[in-house]
Amino acid sequence: MADIDPCPICKGALEEIDVAPCYDCGHEPAELEELSRREHEYFVYSAFGQEIVLCDFCDVDFGSYDPNYFGWPKRRPDDGLLERVRAIDDPRPARDGYCSHCRHRKAFLSFLKAARKYNNAKLHEAKNAR
Ligand SMILES: [Zn+2]
Ligand SMILES: [Zn+2]
Repeated sequence: MADIDPCPICKGALEEIDVAPCYDCGHEPAELEELSRREHEYFVYSAFGQEIVLCDFCDVDFGSYDPNYFGWPKRRPDDGLLERVRAIDDPRPARDGYCSHCRHRKAFLSFLKAARKYNNAKLHEAKNAR
């Protein structure tokens, strides 16, 4: 197996695992079973200028993340933070890296890194506009 890139957030080594489509919970073994039983719908969303795939459970939960985690200084995300882009018609398992330190899969961590960068740039813009 080829070496996979380190974690985009903590630079720790990633473990390659089977994942369900959801970036947020797809690394959990139960999710693969739920995927095979077609228990969830999956959607591509846009948030903080990035695309993220979430299941119909995590999309509801997404607003409970502390926006600071994504580099956004407000206490609560704006309404309509998640914009639904399209449904995933034929969800399948995939392989992804998992960081046991950050406890997320690489797809989520890459989203997180890009979201922080995006929000940071937005904050600078807002400051400079004043
Ligand atoms: Zn990590
Ligand atoms: Zn999920």
